[in-house]
Amino acid sequence: MGTYVTIKVWGEPDSLLKDAVNAAFREIDRIDSLTSIFSTRSAVYQLNQEGKIVSAELAGLIGEALEVSAKSEGAFDPTVMPLVKLWGFYDSTGCERKVPSEREIEEVLDLVDYRMIEIKADTVRFNPKWVKGMLRVLRVGSPAGYVVTGCGVDLGGIAKGYAVDRAVKVLRERGVTRGLVDAGGDIFCFGERNGGWRIGIRNPKSDNPNETIGVISVDSGAIATSGDYENFFELDGVRYHHLIDPATGIPARGAISATVIAPTTTQADAWATALFVMGEKGIAILDSLDDLEGMIVLKDGEVIKTSRFPTLEEP
Ligand code: ADP
Ligand code: MG
Repeated sequence: MGTYVTIKVWGEPDSLLKDAVNAAFREIDRIDSLTSIFSTRSAVYQLNQEGKIVSAELAGLIGEALEVSAKSEGAFDPTVMPLVKLWGFYDSTGCERKVPSEREIEEVLDLVDYRMIEIKADTVRFNPKWVKGMLRVLRVGSPAGYVVTGCGVDLGGIAKGYAVDRAVKVLRERGVTRGLVDAGGDIFCFGERNGGWRIGIRNPKSDNPNETIGVISVDSGAIATSGDYENFFELDGVRYHHLIDPATGIPARGAISATVIAPTTTQADAWATALFVMGEKGIAILDSLDDLEGMIVLKDGEVIKTSRFPTLEEP
């Protein structure tokens, strides 16, 4: 998933904790293999190749992604893959980062629309009737029925959160009662902790990943942050980053970081990406939803929060 994962656990005996942490890391590897767009054996790879996959687990995860897509009015869109590719953000493919031409963006925008994914029971498929540019749809004699050229699912905005949730499940099943899992800023913490868990929010304007703009106290639960500092290139003083607005095909400009608190890390991760893309409008949407709180940092450093987001304390 292109990130580091930290697992912290408290309790005893030592051997139980060590075995549990090892099992949790194995589970994270399994999720990586399920959701990777590059590994030729992953379920997502197969979906993108054949336009169809039968996998209860992937159907569940993509189902959750699509729910966020609908509620965020498409700001979160798991079919963003061709856009991320166009901008050259798939490092391992050796593609070059570049600012595409308007025409290139227009063409690729036709291939991005979460509504073309159809889920029936355990089957996920691209339904070409939703593809905006019908001429791009090739009907071929594959077992899946259709192969939609150029379209693809990228779960980069939700898979880390899901991996964290799965790791926590494994830890708990093995008897761990207090712990924290952090996958590159997607965090779940559980168990008693005096005064709650104190989580630092990274300062998006600093190159130092340890510098925070403040600390919040939370009970058990999930918190995720998306920022323009994770993956970017700069050209003529403009920062082009990996969080792309599916409405325009251009890196979103509404915020420089977005943080979401949610019941699960899967939701927190997807909503942090959605909120980043939507900016201030996303705060209003989160305010209207139960269980979700959010905060954004704007380019000038201004912080905007939902009404029940915890107070930012001094680091
Ligand atoms: P990070 O912690 O790296 O900021 P995010 O959870 O914000 O990660 O997800 C970034 C990834 O999400 C991108 O690398 C890309 O794969 C994918 N992505 C980019 N734009 C969108 C979008 N609008 N909707 C859904 N996924 C996106
Ligand atoms: Mg995310």
